[in-house]
Amino acid sequence: MTGDRSTDLEAAVDAVRTAARACRAVQERLVRPETLEKRDKSPVTVADFASQAIVCARLFGYRSDDPVVGEEDASALREDAQAGLRAAVAERVGEELGERADEERVLSWIDLGSAKAEGPRYWTLDPIDGTKGFLRREQYAVALALIEDGEVVLGVLGCPNLPLHGGVGALFSAVRGGPAWMSPLWDAEAPAQMVRVGTPASAADARLCESVESAHSDQTESARIAALLGIRTEPYRIDSQCKYAAVARDDASIYLRLPTRPNYQEKIWDHAAGSLVVEAAGGRVSDIDGRPLDFTRGRTLAKNRGVVATSGSIHDEVIDAVRRVKD
Ligand code: AMP
Ligand code: MG
Repeated sequence: MTGDRSTDLEAAVDAVRTAARACRAVQERLVRPETLEKRDKSPVTVADFASQAIVCARLFGYRSDDPVVGEEDASALREDAQAGLRAAVAERVGEELGERADEERVLSWIDLGSAKAEGPRYWTLDPIDGTKGFLRREQYAVALALIEDGEVVLGVLGCPNLPLHGGVGALFSAVRGGPAWMSPLWDAEAPAQMVRVGTPASAADARLCESVESAHSDQTESARIAALLGIRTEPYRIDSQCKYAAVARDDASIYLRLPTRPNYQEKIWDHAAGSLVVEAAGGRVSDIDGRPLDFTRGRTLAKNRGVVATSGSIHDEVIDAVRRVKD
């Protein structure tokens, strides 16, 4: 059942690069990306749907039996009122894949991402993590991970707006047991470089990153934790799993995601790829109680509360500060 990791990685990287190009094209060409609101009021754009369709199409071409657990499904897109959005998605997907993609085919690709998060092997996909960052033309990520026997074994993050080598666009990847890699997102031929977390002498010297959206992480509490740790610098606020990338490549050494309400369950596609990239880069990832993230519970991290990712050696100190602020 276990796949060949190098071909798995190749397929995942290719899928993420292609989807990221579609996202970039939507951002460049549309003055205001067309959006639809989900029931929970979160926005979904042409790019979210196109990205999921592309990744699912590519993974289907790679291994048609592999289940994909994606954030989106096509039900809202099938409604009569969404004809314009549907056509725009199909056009974008066709252009990026270089083949004719009629609307029904594109909808069926999107729905390939509706698998259950169970069984010995499945992919999990956030086609655009940080949709709000995407709409603000700031940071967002295409995040794809492979879960085998309840463990994240491979993760790829495409970060179209993250600075790299004087431009923007960075791709991060990791296979469990190996290092974390970073390479230019738009150039598949460019060499990858290994990335490592930083080595702050103590938590006081660490830069802390967190969500831009105060609804996604409690910023008042994080300010109290930072003060307790002796951190004087302002928090680095960026959307999406780019926060994990930031820790992995030493732009920051702490990522705090503090629950804003007691019953929110983190989604696996928001953390699978990013958490592995940080671990492979030498860092540590847990929930706010110090427990490992548990990917055996289906679509959510039902047994965890929030997330803390760090460069490693300062992890216990950070968890201790979180506990003291929470008590
Ligand atoms: P970020 O870009 O870090 O703010 O995270 C974006 C992700 O936050 C989205 O993909 C959502 O799945 C997730 N999200 C939505 N509501 C919440 C919430 N109340 N707490 C934590 N995360 C949330
Ligand atoms: Mg997300």
